[in-house]
Amino acid sequence: LLKRANLPRNMIENSMFEEEPDVVDLAKDSTFPALDPDEVAYEPRSSRLLVRGLGENDMDEDEEDCESSARLLGMSFMNRSSAHRSNSSPYTRQAPPRSCSRPSARTMVVCVLFLVIVASMTMVLYFLPGCTFTKTGCRKENKTTPIEPPFPWSQFRLPHSIRPLSYDLTLNPDLDNMNFTGSTVIKMVVLHNTKRIVLHSANLNISKATFKLDDGEASDVTVLEYKPRQQIALNFSEELKAGQYCVLTLDYSANLSHTYDGFYNSSYTDKDGNKRVLAATQFEPLSARKAFPCFDEPAFKATFLIKINRKPDYMTLSNMPKAKTTPLNNGLVQDEFEMTSVNMSTYLVAFIVGNFTPVSKNVSEILVSVYSVPEKKEHTDYALDAASKLLDFYNDFFEINFPLKKLDLIAIPDFLAGAMENWGLITFRETSLLVGKQSSPLEKQVVASVIAHELAHQWFGNLVTMSWWNDLWLNEGFATYMQYMSLQTVLPQLDIGNLFLAVRFRALDKDALNSSHAVSTAVNSPEQVEEMFDSVSYEKGASILLMLNASLSGDQQFRKGIIQYLKQFSGLNTDTNDLWNSLTQVSTQHQNVSEMMSSWTSQKGFPLVTVSRKGDQVTLTQEHFLLTSDNATHTSSLWNIPVTYVSDNCSLAPECRQLFTLKTKSGTFKVPESVKWLKLNYRNTGFYIVHYGDDGWAALRDALANDVSVLTHEDRASLIHNIFALSRLGRVSFRHVLNLLNYISNETETSPVTEALLQLNKIYQLLDKRQEYSLVARMKTYILHHFGSLMDKQTWEEQESVSKQELRSALLETACGLDDENCTQQAKALFKQYVDSNATSRIPGDLQQVVFNVAAQSAEDWPTLLNLYGHATYDAEKRKMLRGLASTQDARKIVWILKAGLKGNLIQTQELPLVISTVCKGFAGYLFAWDFIQENWDRLIEKFPVGSFAIQTIINSATSQFSTQAHLDQVQGFFSSLKERGSQMRSVQEALETIRLNKRWMEKNLRTLQKWL
Ligand SMILES: [Zn+2]
Repeated sequence: LLKRANLPRNMIENSMFEEEPDVVDLAKDSTFPALDPDEVAYEPRSSRLLVRGLGENDMDEDEEDCESSARLLGMSFMNRSSAHRSNSSPYTRQAPPRSCSRPSARTMVVCVLFLVIVASMTMVLYFLPGCTFTKTGCRKENKTTPIEPPFPWSQFRLPHSIRPLSYDLTLNPDLDNMNFTGSTVIKMVVLHNTKRIVLHSANLNISKATFKLDDGEASDVTVLEYKPRQQIALNFSEELKAGQYCVLTLDYSANLSHTYDGFYNSSYTDKDGNKRVLAATQFEPLSARKAFPCFDEPAFKATFLIKINRKPDYMTLSNMPKAKTTPLNNGLVQDEFEMTSVNMSTYLVAFIVGNFTPVSKNVSEILVSVYSVPEKKEHTDYALDAASKLLDFYNDFFEINFPLKKLDLIAIPDFLAGAMENWGLITFRETSLLVGKQSSPLEKQVVASVIAHELAHQWFGNLVTMSWWNDLWLNEGFATYMQYMSLQTVLPQLDIGNLFLAVRFRALDKDALNSSHAVSTAVNSPEQVEEMFDSVSYEKGASILLMLNASLSGDQQFRKGIIQYLKQFSGLNTDTNDLWNSLTQVSTQHQNVSEMMSSWTSQKGFPLVTVSRKGDQVTLTQEHFLLTSDNATHTSSLWNIPVTYVSDNCSLAPECRQLFTLKTKSGTFKVPESVKWLKLNYRNTGFYIVHYGDDGWAALRDALANDVSVLTHEDRASLIHNIFALSRLGRVSFRHVLNLLNYISNETETSPVTEALLQLNKIYQLLDKRQEYSLVARMKTYILHHFGSLMDKQTWEEQESVSKQELRSALLETACGLDDENCTQQAKALFKQYVDSNATSRIPGDLQQVVFNVAAQSAEDWPTLLNLYGHATYDAEKRKMLRGLASTQDARKIVWILKAGLKGNLIQTQELPLVISTVCKGFAGYLFAWDFIQENWDRLIEKFPVGSFAIQTIINSATSQFSTQAHLDQVQGFFSSLKERGSQMRSVQEALETIRLNKRWMEKNLRTLQKWL
């Protein structure tokens, strides 16, 4: 899955509980008497399902009582009452059952109370007119306290006694009524003797269930459901024996999801103004269970045979090529796909029903196709070309051919993530796949890198999959690393290096916080699964792989190691150690990769390496680079650091690079006494920060002041990043930062300039929000003075080089943002030209953002821009317009746009995180945005799951600019009031820490700024 900045991954809106589920809810079915545990078979009069006995369960009596009461609440209330709808969200559920494990008198009282409430509710429902909630009409039976067989499993993870082998799915989606029926046949093998089968199902109304053991007859069975954990279960009176095979068939119905996960419906307006509907899937991480009952954990791999019934004028796609199409007697046709030729995890299953047109091409006997809605077909050529080249590259690089016969890439209107790597059917947001004829190289860079990421997953993730979400980085860190690595080779003109460098800097910034976590970290709830999709799994994961690759001796060693890993574990699941072991096995110099890398994956954070030098002796010491506001938190973490360095003797070519492994607290090595300066972490390929001490920094500063080209541009950018980080840590005075930046007027390369601008801009924003007006003015003068000549050199014409585009857009967005007259005039002129030409004249792609931002500041142009936004069809451009609109400094417009984003008509709700983060950057809007989030919190977590990347973005952007005690108190007060509605999120801890750090930095440096700025 590719989250991409500001692209929320999925959205949950739990509004699907209007209908009575068809599963026999024993708690509600008053005809169901108290059961004798010895009872082998019992058929309730009004039930369509046969109970095949209810075996003993694993819980003791007290647990059982309490469990059962909690379940009664869950089952009886949650799915009936729309007033209690929010309770049905897994994120706002009742107290978890584990709180019941120590029963007390109080527990018993509560349990009894639950039963009374349930009984009263039953009575109320009984008297409702027409017995609204039953399908069989009013029931006349005597209402007694319902007793229900206990749900036989009390853990978040499924038991391992049963393994699914194959799924046979038949789906019948009705796009007119936005619902579907399905039938799922699951073949399983028993691994250990057991009396139960537990699997996942969410929001599915199971109407019929049959079970068949070995060669026995299929018979009806009762399915128990425990909604808070989205699990269903079968209980057996007799043990299923290891080695037996069994088949479970489940028929069910459900609504198509209105959110962006599960089997969801989506619509768009075509060029003739007609509303078009489609249905698509997004299953990662936990939503396959919303489309079919399944063992929805990545380690339960199986094969899938999928059949979809459709109207003749729709088309369908799935992971595999279509095998045949058969007419059905109800006017529909059935598409049957080939059975998957590979075992795969449930989260990778995908199917789509709608109208899409492909462009296709054969690449080494694999049919590669790019699908879009018909009117955007001409935007697919670039993606087809990039995907073909990248597929060739990966086939070759991994020495394993893509195992399926076809590979589809499809742009879905209304898709929340950046893209999703479903095996053989990769789904994309339109922005991440479609490239207009006139698109700039920067837009192509976005598309190519998303494709590169998702294609890498076809091996890393799909072929070899992490066993559990705690090792999500094995998927995401790898795909992120490969995305940059492959593009450097396949499409070097896209200049992907600067982006990767910036990504590593941001990963360091996040990982420096105390709220960060180890790359491999325990995951025991749906919220924690969501939270794994963060910069540690993606960007830090990619950074440590780069560091490893750069430190291995022999240039193919890394590649050989991962080929070994992919071959050894092909079709299987792994954990982090498996990867390190494979890399250790191929090591030519017996480097212990496991030993080195586990220090990077098993503990959070990264080291600060401090250099001190006496004559020819260099001493390095390491400590945890931990940003804390109290200075009291210390850790004894040590890393196995492959420290690299260059010196004034030889500093540019790769051969100059020296390696020193620092495993202990400190270590020494020698350099010739004549060496004037050392630069550590050559080209910033290592995941650490370096402090050179006063003399070391002074020597580097002098060298740069003399000649910027004594270091690579990555090394220059790395010095800038590191010195700002050290200032934030409190190790260097801000005066030293400014001293280093004195060289910057001679800088012409993209990465040092963009890093310096980003860092200065952060401080500018903090000063602005603290209303330190004189310092704001001085900071503005400082930036315009140091970068002015470079800003003035930028042209406003088409520019082919990606690197130059990146440089230009950063400089001009800063200049215009600071109201530099030169800049704003040019931008206004370009906008006027664009409007006058009826949006046919072209604004260079990298300049669109700055032009729209400037336009949005004008009272006349803002409505014009809004109008353009409403009519624009090309998604990449549309999003830039939206960011422009949200950058307005008019308070009423800000309030309007926030509300429009939440409402979702004019501005899709999927764009709300982008709107909020843009509004928060401006002085006029940041407090409105914070208010908005507090007032609408419950609606926000209905749309975006607690812990999700979207919520992380919203919290971070709203709070990261506060730097006062008053705001700290407010933020703390608000989030602690949320309780189970999100107070425990890691991003909340991160927000509080960030505010404390901002406050500390400001208090410490305001004087320095007044003196030196
Ligand atoms: Zn991914």
